Amino acid sequence: MTFLDNDIRYLAGIGAQRAKLLAEQIGVVTIGDLLYYFPFRYIDRSKVYPIVGVTEELDEAYVQIRARVTSKQTLGYRRAQRLVVRVADATGEAELVWFKGAKWVEARLEVGREYLFFGRPSFYRGQLKMAHPEVEPVPVIVPGGVASDALPLSGASLQGVYHTTDRLTGAHLGTRGIYQLIVAAWAAAENSIAETLPEELMRAHGLVGLHEALKNIHFPESPAKLKAAQYRLKFEELLGVELDILSRRTARTERSDGFLFPRVGEHFNRFWNERLPFPLTGAQKRVIKEIRADTVSGHQMNRLLQGDVGSGKTLVALVSMLLAVDNGFQATLMAPTEILARQHFASISGMVEGLGLRVAILTGATRAAERRKILESLSAGEIDILVGTHALIEDRVEFANLGLVVIDEQHRFGVEQRARLWTKNHRPPHVLVMTATPIPRTLAMTLYGDLEVSIIDELPPGRKAVKTYLKNDSDRLAVWGFLKREIAKGRQVYVVYPLIEDSEKMDYKSLEDGYESIVRDFPRPEYQVVAVHGRMKAEDKQTAMREFKEGQCQIMVATSVIEVGVDVPNATVMVIESAERFGLSQLHQLRGRVGRGGDQSYCVLVSGVKLTKEARQRLRAMTETNDGFELAEMDMRLRGSGDMAGTQQSGLAFDLRIADLSRDGQVIEHTRRVAEGILEGDPQLERPENDLLRALRAKYASKAPADFSQIS
Ligand code: ADP
Ligand code: MG
Repeated sequence: MTFLDNDIRYLAGIGAQRAKLLAEQIGVVTIGDLLYYFPFRYIDRSKVYPIVGVTEELDEAYVQIRARVTSKQTLGYRRAQRLVVRVADATGEAELVWFKGAKWVEARLEVGREYLFFGRPSFYRGQLKMAHPEVEPVPVIVPGGVASDALPLSGASLQGVYHTTDRLTGAHLGTRGIYQLIVAAWAAAENSIAETLPEELMRAHGLVGLHEALKNIHFPESPAKLKAAQYRLKFEELLGVELDILSRRTARTERSDGFLFPRVGEHFNRFWNERLPFPLTGAQKRVIKEIRADTVSGHQMNRLLQGDVGSGKTLVALVSMLLAVDNGFQATLMAPTEILARQHFASISGMVEGLGLRVAILTGATRAAERRKILESLSAGEIDILVGTHALIEDRVEFANLGLVVIDEQHRFGVEQRARLWTKNHRPPHVLVMTATPIPRTLAMTLYGDLEVSIIDELPPGRKAVKTYLKNDSDRLAVWGFLKREIAKGRQVYVVYPLIEDSEKMDYKSLEDGYESIVRDFPRPEYQVVAVHGRMKAEDKQTAMREFKEGQCQIMVATSVIEVGVDVPNATVMVIESAERFGLSQLHQLRGRVGRGGDQSYCVLVSGVKLTKEARQRLRAMTETNDGFELAEMDMRLRGSGDMAGTQQSGLAFDLRIADLSRDGQVIEHTRRVAEGILEGDPQLERPENDLLRALRAKYASKAPADFSQIS
């Protein structure tokens, strides 16, 4: 128990009410929590743009302007209500809009007064607009003193901005309120900060002390000191994570109770010699070899298979499962969606037909009676390969002898969900996770824990690169004409929309509108159009997919549900509507749905006419390259912090306060090497000089869910 463990109520000015809110909303309970609640951004208070200087060409995600309110107006009713504030400085005018909390803001802005507005610039007809900018009264800097609106330490111009929530803001704990609490917490705790890293380590890696780091993360004395503080805190966090991952790896490789698949038996051989629909690519063969080596090593396999869309991961999965079956084990393949599970089931059943394998499928849509039968056969060992969705994780599902788990498109599963699959056996099965999301190796290991990585870096031969075009709404007729010509050649077409319903505020095309207009422009009986979206019943979806796959319809109108897994080689055109709404990796995934046969395929990105600079870069990148790795890198660069997170960081086994896995690749690599060095000298961290590091490792280990190495 240290001073930092004290409840925040210890601080003056925090009553029970606010303490409760802080705990609920942002998990801050102790003074320590508060000090580790870092700003997610800093405003450079010294930098104020003249309005005329904020142009579409300006390469800043956020800008600050200093302007006078000239008018304010509330428009619309009820939920559609918004506050429109016009402001001006000596150089020009801008329009600020609030959709949420309009009343609250309205009451705080006075016409005629000057404020600092900080926000993301956008433009309409060349005029600067900002939605939901932060507002501050023009600050009164009290030289050397601590005034409520000034910075507490020196004349620094960097001001931290803290994440907050509507409810906190309502209780005067907006970013500024939180900042003031931190000022108070720091004053109280400043003399109780105990160093958490060994002296020697800090010296060797040029890290500043914890006291210095915490102080500067909240109240930067200079950009250089802020940087040093950020580096120190990231380093510590990632070192903790890496120490934990490496220790678990050691534990896993020291265990030698991995299932053995030494036999290359009848199923495998017959499939290989009689059924292989095409020669495998070199990359597929290499990966299969790697998996074979793992499954005879005596250690449990934990392997990530990365391969771009269309690279043929499914076949690798199937071959691996045949190995398991030939050695007397069951295998399972888990997919993120019903559609994908069905597709895998259909293609696997087709490929192994006549080989005497018992393949079944279990999903949320499986009916009770059918389900009971499957569960019985499964636990009696009468099913060899079970394909399914999340339904597989349910407790009632029991295998007789599960030897291999294959997880497709794994970023859609959280770490915990995966961890539950491992527990389906007293001994952990081999695990192969497959993903089309390219991520650097160390990052992958950090994201998913300790694992080996295989890469399929080669597409099957004869594939023609998909040609990608960027069009906008005014090219509509030409696009439709193109579709008609392709359909006349006997090809099929996808048209994808981002949303099911019209979004309240933004005018994106909805699937429903789109469907109607397509049916109008592509009339029956000449054309058959089918729609698939997330809200349909599983059965209806399946029927639609089947009709399309069988060629009964030429056009599939869909939301991004088709993003993963649809495999219709005859489909040669992918039209993506409101393409600017999609992230790069999603666009790439969607594009991967065409170009699966021998015919030239096309991807047509249809966007609005007005695009942000970032959206334009993104769409242009799509037309310039088909390389998933290149696009993923660009995606990280363009979207930056936390967004890649959307899909990936959420599955994380640990809680990162400051490191950002999409941006801190170098720090990750570095701390991994440092951790390796430390553990080489002291594998269990038993030496007294490593006491602090043992504690650090424990801090991160405690947050990781059980994985195989921890299951006995
Ligand atoms: P993904 O890696 O995206 O899951 P799939 O496994 O779905 O890719 O394979 C994409 C398509 O390529 C499928 O139609 C599959 O039958 C085909 N395919 C896979 N391997 C080869 C190969 N070696 N040669 C030719 N076609 C292949
Ligand atoms: Mg796949």
